[in-house]
Amino acid sequence: MIFDNATIITMNPQREIILNGALAVDGRTIAAVGKSRAIRERFAEKKVVDCSGDVLMPGLVDTHVHTAQAMLRGCADDLSLLDWLGKRVWVLQGSYTAEDGRASAALCALEMIKSGTTAFIEAMLAERYGIDGVAEVLVQSGMRAAIGKIVMDQPSYGKVQSFMHPGLVEDGETSIRNTLAAHDRWDGAGDGRIQIWFGPRTPGGVTPALYDEIGKLARERGMGITIHNSEVRDDQAYAASQGCRSAVEFIHAHGLLGPRTVLAHCVWTDEEDWKLMAETGTHASHNPASNAKTATGIAPVEGMLAAGVNVSLACDGGPSNNTYDMIRDMRLASYLACLRENSPIVVPAETIMEMATINGTKAMGLGDQIGSLEAGKRADFIVINMDAPHLTPAWDPISAIAYAATGADVDTVVIDGKLVMRHRQVLTLDEGAILADVRGRYRAVAERGGLQIGPRWPVV
Ligand SMILES: [Zn+2]
Repeated sequence: MIFDNATIITMNPQREIILNGALAVDGRTIAAVGKSRAIRERFAEKKVVDCSGDVLMPGLVDTHVHTAQAMLRGCADDLSLLDWLGKRVWVLQGSYTAEDGRASAALCALEMIKSGTTAFIEAMLAERYGIDGVAEVLVQSGMRAAIGKIVMDQPSYGKVQSFMHPGLVEDGETSIRNTLAAHDRWDGAGDGRIQIWFGPRTPGGVTPALYDEIGKLARERGMGITIHNSEVRDDQAYAASQGCRSAVEFIHAHGLLGPRTVLAHCVWTDEEDWKLMAETGTHASHNPASNAKTATGIAPVEGMLAAGVNVSLACDGGPSNNTYDMIRDMRLASYLACLRENSPIVVPAETIMEMATINGTKAMGLGDQIGSLEAGKRADFIVINMDAPHLTPAWDPISAIAYAATGADVDTVVIDGKLVMRHRQVLTLDEGAILADVRGRYRAVAERGGLQIGPRWPVV
């Protein structure tokens, strides 16, 4: 197929934007990208998809997602972080069945596809959400995913002991064994779209000895690792209690930094941490909406980028964001950086575009396969409908998308050469059935958790 007559944001090394452009797909691969006429002449036999007036760009990569939390959107608004976690989110997650985990993952994938996300990292998939059901749904969705399976051996949170809901507690040996079993079963599934990673809990939830073991196994198997790190200030207090200067240095001491590691949040990091991250090739995942909502702070994006850290973008989860719409968060990421640095020029739209696309693919270890639209790369891209008041005029398509668009403007999604959404209709998942399934489940989860959740204003 040829996607024709689009404005193409290539993200190639020169960062070229092609007006009246066309992209030819051959199987899973991009055959050519260039001016419409040249591509049409060269591939005269191919079917043409007209994208007049649209922007075509690489798919978005969300590097920190909790699929189990899609069904918990809005369950824990306007609460302090410890109440948010201990009285709502963990109680509900700890009351999930494997069918709930699958239903939430399907909902999450649906929302991500409909807002232009083509690849993501699942941060912490617990045993009780049902790894097989979640992996099956993600294979079916057509998305690329690195699934971080939770590893833990302590029910505490930072220095708060026995804080975790009993329904979520796993022991070290079993959580390691099940991660490796999931890796054997699912890594490379979906024509290579699925990866299985280690998703260990934050410092405090994992003993130092278990971190050592994770690092060793990940290196042996070439597995990725993703960890929440320096999300809250207390992470530093925990690191100090372990004799380390910072939370980044603590996990470095246990062999967990490196080019296959993604640290989520990195709010309370400093220059020495950034130096260490850059030297080891460790990636950062910036979660602006989640950090703002839970008031954990604004991550030092400008500083990390200047130090040479690969910084990507992420939405986090349903109760902390409350959407999985990367385009909405592109704008927030830039605006929060302006506020933090007291300067409107620090993280411009072009940088945000890189964070949301090519930097994310590097974090997933897929930098040579996706992230830019160039001949030979895998065909992962989205088409954005610009025919809307809030996108008119578009002086610069990068600005229009980074600062004015939302996920609802995404019209078409192609992943691995396969049409996954066309004119906002998802072709791999049954949207009506997934929404009906979730509507039939979410109240039962709250009931099992002994919670009543609803409007705080009187309902008549
Ligand atoms: Zn998270």
